Amino acid sequence: MTIDYGQLYLAGTWTDPAGSDRITAISPTTEETIGSVPRGTEADIDAAVASARTAFDAPDGWARWHPKRRAEALERFAVELESRAAETARRVTIQNGMPIWLAQQFEAGFPALLVRYYSGLMADAPEFETRPGMLGGSALVEKLPIGVVGAIVPWNVPQAITFLKLAPALAAGCTVVLKPAEETVLDAFLMAEAAAAAGLPAGVLNVVPGGRDLGAYLVSHPGLDKVSFTGSTAAGKAISRTCADLLRPVTLELGGKSAAILLDDVDLVASLESFFASTLLNNGQICWLSTRILAPRARYGEIVDTITDLAKSLTIGDPTDPDTKIGPLVSAQQRARVEGYIAKGKAEGARLTTGGGRPDGIDHGWFVEPTIFADLDNNATVAREEIFGPVLSVIPYSDETEAVSIANDSIYGLGGSVWSADADRATAVARKVQSGTVGVNHYVNEPTAPFGGIKQSGFGRELGPEALSSFQVIRTVYLPPAQ
Ligand code: NAD
Repeated sequence: MTIDYGQLYLAGTWTDPAGSDRITAISPTTEETIGSVPRGTEADIDAAVASARTAFDAPDGWARWHPKRRAEALERFAVELESRAAETARRVTIQNGMPIWLAQQFEAGFPALLVRYYSGLMADAPEFETRPGMLGGSALVEKLPIGVVGAIVPWNVPQAITFLKLAPALAAGCTVVLKPAEETVLDAFLMAEAAAAAGLPAGVLNVVPGGRDLGAYLVSHPGLDKVSFTGSTAAGKAISRTCADLLRPVTLELGGKSAAILLDDVDLVASLESFFASTLLNNGQICWLSTRILAPRARYGEIVDTITDLAKSLTIGDPTDPDTKIGPLVSAQQRARVEGYIAKGKAEGARLTTGGGRPDGIDHGWFVEPTIFADLDNNATVAREEIFGPVLSVIPYSDETEAVSIANDSIYGLGGSVWSADADRATAVARKVQSGTVGVNHYVNEPTAPFGGIKQSGFGRELGPEALSSFQVIRTVYLPPAQ
């Protein structure tokens, strides 16, 4: 049975779409149709932005509610999200191929956790701060919601990424128009059902699915005050240009080509589970994965063997099976892109130690075997460009200084990791890596700590209190000297 929706969640209610086109969700595992939703149009975006604008501007509306009152409404939202958590995970898995155990962690758990974290931060924050001045008076400094937010998200971790934006934006008092990616619409509509059931006020959250053109239309919409985008660097640049012309604040979470630095004392075999989670998670389709593995020359052969054995040991198959470690890529197009990179790696002379093709015995679905390249340097195309698939390059280095310099020799700066038997030593090296985030002997996005990139990985931060600030503006009221 397919999952089909006839209406869009706009202005707090299920509404007929302006157009008649539909987005069809295809299983990357079976290649069969699994559902469909109305395709949003510019008219739907206009209606969504108008409703978010009205909700934001209302004198007694969401933006002006006391944060504790918003927290109560958001708690109802969190409860409704939790009651749909298992189905959220399932829908993500059947749409994008994320292994179900991972969807149960990331996609089922993160949304409610983030909603509670940010509404708690807001509820506990003082309403304003009064600062004694140097010129006789004082200043009242307050943080206000920035306004109507356009949020655009990719398909790879769709619900967690959605809530990196929604949770702080809504807690801060903003209203949101969300444009999910075409590949993952069914989870977005389930999330909208949770919002409707929680009784979020009309216009606070609107969901309009569509492709790149609809996203571009939303970004340039005159009714918006802020754009928050996660996706490719190419799209981020286009969005940044539009926002520059409009002087519109924008947060950009973009691509990456992060490095795992294995120090010469590393016990990789003891860390394999964390190493897998930092390099090949979600079939290689996560922006922060360490996909360049920097190995000390003295231990190069042994490390290549260990990583090759790891890749060979991973169970490939139906992502709804809890034992599956590697599911299919999200689309035929994505598989073609990854296969193109594998061909390029071989053509440039890198040695394929395992993988490189489609798994035997699976005759449908967009699968690619976990693939390891060795005997290449950091100038190889597969070491420089983001592949977004289960492909790792193991690059040798001579000493720590060279390892850091290879790690930093990238146009990107989003993630990374350092691995050693001595966590202090690894931490010292981690602090030399030019990147927004680096993990020591593991990599986990800690909700209380800021996450984001430098260089062509974007700017602005999500998670932590920093994310809340990105949805706020500051007003200063100069108070007169006391009489
Ligand atoms: P993409 O940029 O093609 O699409 C992402 C989203 O943006 C989709 O909703 C798409 O419809 C929309 N979009 C595309 N072009 C647009 C434009 N010009 N204007 C407005 N909206 C536009 O990316 P993708 O291929 O779907 O996702 C994979 C990319 O996302 C990878 O590069 C990955 O590294 C990146 N990513 C980054 C992070 C992060 O936090 N830094 C997280 C996940 C994914």
